[in-house]
Amino acid sequence: MLFTKVAIKSFGCRTNQEEMNSLRFRLLQQGVEIVDDIEDAQVIIINTCTVTSSTESKTKRLIKAVAGQNPSAKILLTGCLAQQKPSELKDLDSVFWVVGNTEKDQIPSILEKNGGVFQHPFSREIPNLSIKTNEIPSVKDHAGFRTRFPLKIQEGCNYRCSYCIVPSVRGPSRSAEFSNVLSAFDSALKAGFKEIVLTGTHIGQFAKEQSASLLELLKEIVSFDGDFRVRLSSLDPRDLSDEILQLVGNNSKICDHLHISVQSFSENVLRAMDRPYSDVERLVSRLSAFRRSFPSAGLGADFIVGFPGETDKDFELTMERVSMVGFSYAHIFRFSARPGTSAISLPEQISDSVKTNRSNRLRMLINQSRDDFINKNLTVSKKIIVESESPVRGLTSNYIHVEIPGLRRSCNSWMDVKVHEAVNGRFHLAQPVWEKT
Ligand code: SF4
Repeated sequence: MLFTKVAIKSFGCRTNQEEMNSLRFRLLQQGVEIVDDIEDAQVIIINTCTVTSSTESKTKRLIKAVAGQNPSAKILLTGCLAQQKPSELKDLDSVFWVVGNTEKDQIPSILEKNGGVFQHPFSREIPNLSIKTNEIPSVKDHAGFRTRFPLKIQEGCNYRCSYCIVPSVRGPSRSAEFSNVLSAFDSALKAGFKEIVLTGTHIGQFAKEQSASLLELLKEIVSFDGDFRVRLSSLDPRDLSDEILQLVGNNSKICDHLHISVQSFSENVLRAMDRPYSDVERLVSRLSAFRRSFPSAGLGADFIVGFPGETDKDFELTMERVSMVGFSYAHIFRFSARPGTSAISLPEQISDSVKTNRSNRLRMLINQSRDDFINKNLTVSKKIIVESESPVRGLTSNYIHVEIPGLRRSCNSWMDVKVHEAVNGRFHLAQPVWEKT
């Protein structure tokens, strides 16, 4: 191996993070030392993101910073910004390799080569380009003993939302072979993982090109023996079937937690986003029904406020419908125009002050329903998988981060807990539920 000391820095989504964990594991297997200090590295791999203008500038700042910190190190850029702007990036100081998303799994062999740009042209005419599931390390070797294993089952997207750059840097939707996902899932269980998170760019499109579906995959997975749970990463409302809602609510092998990329509840705004949900009112009533049927289930969402053309009336409609559902949390983004997307040239761009005002108002509304949700859960016992020994910390099946001060418990063990105090922060205080002996 030409280089023996490599540092890895990663931006962006869970799929980006997991691809780097997979690479880290493969490099370790090849005898490479993964170093944390930039000064110690011979090669610095930066896994870039381009989803918003701020992630792009953050990425460029890091490239400049590490080049200054260790001028002798060679920089390899990969990820979505590398896919989007290879020619611009290859001329930056200390940048030796620019590797597209599809070549990411070849990085160990690319490091052997002396510089250049490696990129695969995306073309929708390649539907049978299935992807590989990611490497499965043991729990101990998994990126700092993280107990939840994100299993990449799909990549890319067949939609073209007007604000989204992802399809142009991740390509059309491709999935891992159905049978490969099942064997990877089984291997992850055998590797000691108790929770496996199904990830991808758009998992609702999983295996459609194989005439299968995410629902079929879930039904197979819950038939596996063993003490485990599977969690779904984000789901698009267009892939939210009643069967998936019932399975998530009722089956104890699936975390009672859904994260929906709603973006807006206004028909006008969704039309401008090229996200035409067939019936928004029906979506709201289905999510409200899910909330009523499963009051302790976690229900999160993504929202974009200040989208071009979003009137006060549109925003009030979103607010009104959000209050009808009762989300337990939400990620709220202010619209950020991205070059390479059609939304950048839409008329009626919204001012920053209006975006800020709307984002603050929606956040307050969501915080209120989050507090209601936590208070309703104060008497409900839920399972965590211990992620830190002392204080004990973990994530409940319904997506509440909890902490139990003054207790020590080994990582990757199950524990029954009850939240006993909602706090204004990431970890709510909980107490263990001891089995009656
Ligand atoms: S569904 Fe829309 S927002 Fe999501 S990845 Fe596809 S194009 Fe982007």
